[in-house]
Amino acid sequence: MRHLRFFILLTISLLLSSKAQAYTLVIDAGHGGKDAGALGFTTKEKNINLAVALAFGRLVEQNIPDVKVIYTRKTDTFVELDERACIANRNKADLFISIHTNSTAAGLKGTQVCGTETYTLGMHRAADNLAVAKRENSVITLEANYEERYEGFDPKSSESYIIFELMQDTHMQQSVKFAGLVQQQFASHAGRVNKGVYQAGFLVLRNTSMPSVLVELGYINNRAEERFLASQDGVAKMSRAIFNAFKAYKQSRK
Ligand SMILES: [Zn+2]
Repeated sequence: MRHLRFFILLTISLLLSSKAQAYTLVIDAGHGGKDAGALGFTTKEKNINLAVALAFGRLVEQNIPDVKVIYTRKTDTFVELDERACIANRNKADLFISIHTNSTAAGLKGTQVCGTETYTLGMHRAADNLAVAKRENSVITLEANYEERYEGFDPKSSESYIIFELMQDTHMQQSVKFAGLVQQQFASHAGRVNKGVYQAGFLVLRNTSMPSVLVELGYINNRAEERFLASQDGVAKMSRAIFNAFKAYKQSRK
């Protein structure tokens, strides 16, 4: 009798836990390790990305227990672009969020440009927004055998981006919907300038087989924006904004 009761309880708890972890979210902190990403006056992109990614993940873990959170990196390590997508695919993720920080071509000469952008993988307009995609994709040149791994893709050549126009993205609608929610929250919760939702050819999104977005938190070479993003307040607000968007998106999918 006691065994039976134990068995029933075990079965119920297993059923509950399998049901309770039905949704998988992959959070990708852009860059890391030998790849610093864009450089600010006092900070590096990789560190801002990681701080916001971890804070966002913590909010999800604490507030939405039926979501399994998987990070492509939790420390300052180098992870190849195609491996980031593979992590999401292997774990059958429901949503993939890649977190980045922007910079203009002026680099450390500084810029007045500011604001957040959220990208989905572009088909028709891959040639637009080429500068951002080129900068984020150039990471692969730090990877061993990148020409082989990415089938001759040259991150600096505009011609390489033609492949994105031929791609069918079946998750485009959901990706764009989530991207819009993120942008709304960056403006309303974090008080950021909303620069909008765009499409571009990001290698990190190319191979994901679920809705996926790439977020640019702001411009690291804008002194005020860098100060905000590097502050505790900034990390708290930006991570909370992404969390609010995720919560609304997930609820809308029910
Ligand atoms: Zn980046």
